[in-house]
Amino acid sequence: MAKIINFPNPKVSAENSKEAQQVIQKWLNLPEEIKEKLINNVFCSVCGVTTIVDYTVVPNEYYSDVVLKGKCKRCGKEVGRLVEL
Ligand SMILES: [Zn+2]
Repeated sequence: MAKIINFPNPKVSAENSKEAQQVIQKWLNLPEEIKEKLINNVFCSVCGVTTIVDYTVVPNEYYSDVVLKGKCKRCGKEVGRLVEL
């Protein structure tokens, strides 16, 4: 199986509430191949579909899903994607 870069230690949002921790834990519990697909399928306005690197996992406002916020691997532009959990 291919090794993934910048895995499995993403920075986690500074937010510390129980709800935030629970939803972030849900992300962390996803199977690695699912997470890999998600981080390799992020839209960059410059490059199109790209890989997100140096990303932070941030809960959405309802603590139902998380948003990955990071940079495009190719051009370094800020990119992000919602992950429905
Ligand atoms: Zn890019």
